[in-house]
Amino acid sequence: MTETDLCRDEREEMVEFQIRARGVRDQRVLAAMRKIPRHLFVPKGFERAAYEDRPLPIGEGQTISQPYIVAVMTEQLELKPQDRVLEIGTGSGYQAALLVELAGTVISVERLRDLADRAQQNLARAGVTGVRVVVGDGTQGYSPEAPYNAIIVTAASPDIPGPLIEQLAEGGRLIAPVGPRDCQDLIKLVKREGRVEKIPLGGVCFVPLIGQFGWRGEGYP
Ligand code: SAM
Repeated sequence: MTETDLCRDEREEMVEFQIRARGVRDQRVLAAMRKIPRHLFVPKGFERAAYEDRPLPIGEGQTISQPYIVAVMTEQLELKPQDRVLEIGTGSGYQAALLVELAGTVISVERLRDLADRAQQNLARAGVTGVRVVVGDGTQGYSPEAPYNAIIVTAASPDIPGPLIEQLAEGGRLIAPVGPRDCQDLIKLVKREGRVEKIPLGGVCFVPLIGQFGWRGEGYP
């Protein structure tokens, strides 16, 4: 048995009791969460906690999000196999691993090089290919590969960064936590005929999105 095969029962329980029981029904999302070995995306010593109903620290003051929140955000992206997806905030690489299971192209931007390097190691260890990790300020999006059918922001900002709305394709979906530093509203934005519709999805608490079109933080590169 490889390390990727471990914890199948824990994953099944996570999907059944934390995710499906709370209303996430997209079969492709549930299957992806059953498949991706979350324990390979947490720091050493936290493997046993990887399937618990909570976020976990991943170093540098950052977190891997609670499985249920990851599931809701992924479901709301309504991904199709040919979609181009941009993730802002690679963190551990776990969300990116799910995205590439469900879509065609995944680009993930992380501002902290150490985390970006670790995420790439985690993805390789989990046998996940096809995610392109870019180090930079994700509040500016990633224009060389735009437009995107879906954009997911996994850190919170006072408003949705303008460049991300510009880089969203017609018919595209964007999910982002928006609001004050401590807790925010999860917002879904859909672009139709050049106009954007905003749908609130509920309250969340995310780490800050630090950059030109987000929060201005100390140590910003
Ligand atoms: N999606 C991640 C996962 O699956 O582990 C969790 C992301 S963690 C909640 C938020 C991440 O956003 C952190 O790794 C943080 O360094 C990153 N971040 C914050 N501001 C950023 C920015 N302007 N551009 C790119 N990444 C940023």
